[in-house]
Amino acid sequence: MAECGVCFRHCKIAEGGIGFCGGRTARNGRVEALNYGRITSLALDPIEKKPLMRFHPGSLILSAGSFGCNLRCPFCQNYEISWSEQAGRFAETAETLSPEELAKIAERTRPRGNIGLAFTYNEPLIGYEFVRDTARLTKEKGLKNVLVTNGTAELAIWEELKPYIDAMNIDLKGFTDRYYSKVLGGNRQQTMAFIEETVRSCHVELTTLIVPGENDSEEEMRELSKWVSGLKNPDGEGVPLHISRFFPRFHMQDRKATPVRTVYRLAEVAREALEYVYTGNC
Ligand code: SF4
Repeated sequence: MAECGVCFRHCKIAEGGIGFCGGRTARNGRVEALNYGRITSLALDPIEKKPLMRFHPGSLILSAGSFGCNLRCPFCQNYEISWSEQAGRFAETAETLSPEELAKIAERTRPRGNIGLAFTYNEPLIGYEFVRDTARLTKEKGLKNVLVTNGTAELAIWEELKPYIDAMNIDLKGFTDRYYSKVLGGNRQQTMAFIEETVRSCHVELTTLIVPGENDSEEEMRELSKWVSGLKNPDGEGVPLHISRFFPRFHMQDRKATPVRTVYRLAEVAREALEYVYTGNC
């Protein structure tokens, strides 16, 4: 058995077995990324789609995804590559790119307005070795690196990535331990520690998806935004918060989409504490 040190789960993985996230395995008594260089999606996206509103607005960024995730959000929009049965199949079928190949594609798309590379769509931190090796190369080419992540990782993982990552959107999916552990299969304390550390050296924006009946109270948003107001990005500005609308998907189809007025109301509540609040999916 080899123990994975990436996230709070600390999976013990048998030789050739697969960790909870589906993206890591054990070989020769060591845990390594099963999804290293395995690309399931590649697209040139507007940076606002990450979402990042205060990092090179109006630009495009080459966005790459692999497979696997260490959370179990029942409403996942990307379940095909995150944690469904299909996601596991990508271990056999996904295209493989080396860090050099992906960095070259990012460079080649520069004339089309690309500013760099975003690691997104599935959870990038579970395959941090590929992120690190590729981001090092893109940085050498003068490109920017972005992570879109659930922030569920040990700080030692961030230390490996810190020299190369310019901006992140991190999910802060709610502000109760119950919601994180019972509904999402996550760990709010680890996520908050990750946010607190990363914001010291990297441009961070946060996203909260509002799910009816789970995290849609004004009281919870007041607490969440108050905590966010204590954070500052490296440029001294407040951390932007994206409040976004849920749609029934995957294993959560028992409720309707979040009413638009709820999202707008919660954005108003967040603005009591925060300067930069954006609404999404409305
Ligand atoms: S990253 Fe994956 S294998 Fe490692 S501890 Fe977390 S869930 Fe387990």
